Amino acid sequence: MTKDYYQILEITEFSTQEEIKMAYRKLARKWHPDVAGNSNDVISKFKEINEAYEILSNNIKKADYDRARKFYNYAKSSKTEAKNTEQKTENTTTKPDFKETKQSNTKKEEKFAFSFNWEEFIAKKCRTNHYKKEENKSAKRGNDIYTDIEISVFEAINGTNKVVNMLQTQVCPICGGRKFVNGSICNECHGTGETSNYKKFSVKIPAGIKDKSKIRLAGEGEAGSNGGKNGDLYLTVHILEPKSYKTDGLNILKTVQIAPYDAVLGTTISVTTLKGNVSVKIPANTQNGQKIRLNACGIETPSKQGDMIITIEIQLPKELSNEEIELYKKLRDISSSKVGG
Ligand SMILES: [Zn+2]
Repeated sequence: MTKDYYQILEITEFSTQEEIKMAYRKLARKWHPDVAGNSNDVISKFKEINEAYEILSNNIKKADYDRARKFYNYAKSSKTEAKNTEQKTENTTTKPDFKETKQSNTKKEEKFAFSFNWEEFIAKKCRTNHYKKEENKSAKRGNDIYTDIEISVFEAINGTNKVVNMLQTQVCPICGGRKFVNGSICNECHGTGETSNYKKFSVKIPAGIKDKSKIRLAGEGEAGSNGGKNGDLYLTVHILEPKSYKTDGLNILKTVQIAPYDAVLGTTISVTTLKGNVSVKIPANTQNGQKIRLNACGIETPSKQGDMIITIEIQLPKELSNEEIELYKKLRDISSSKVGG
């Protein structure tokens, strides 16, 4: 057994949970790198203390550990063979792949070796959970974040500033990802080592942006670790086309329905534009599909102004009264003009 967690915490296997906690707090305060300095010895001592506490403060892990410890002590005192196994196991546990270690031991069907290995496994599991960031010293760039943003046609043409609210995760600023402060669970991150905050960004959307364009905010993605750079934030811009009209550059395209007699006789209709309602004169004999341009009723930019182009659609009334049908019959009989052909 490479580590005796009871020895590390300067307690015995008969210590109560309260005593374990007190011992841990005392030692964690004493050996905290902020207090004892940042030397490698201090850091590894501090890790050892946390590791010991992680196992001994958890009743399930502690029971596993106690069993493994008993096996080990039994093996050491009763078998010289076990001594050799211990050394072998110590060599193999330095390999990064735990499975391999376990297999090589299982092959030998060495009971004590396996029990020893089991303890190492618990310790290793503990280390990987708690000190992942510290053990992997290579700088790691934070992940990029992708999100969507919706803007109107007018905002796309004119450009705008949009406020985006993003949930960001970062290394806890209080414990620096260590999860403990002076031997107690960090109050800021509650022992997760990370904090999440909503961060507001004001994003400048340039004028003339196209649908599905991406805007990159450098360094606003997830935080990097071990001095690695932050990831980037990518916003995909979606331009919302209004339902009642389409756009073509700065021009607004709209279809307007009129009755057949209005198309023949001409009329005045009211059309809703960006500037409000505008009266539009429909000339007599207006054809289906005919276009009427309303000057300067389109989208406005500081330097330009688009038009509104309305397309006339002659629409038959859904229901006709008998009187109307009679009139249409009369109209057909007296009509001299030929349609089509
Ligand atoms: Zn914290």
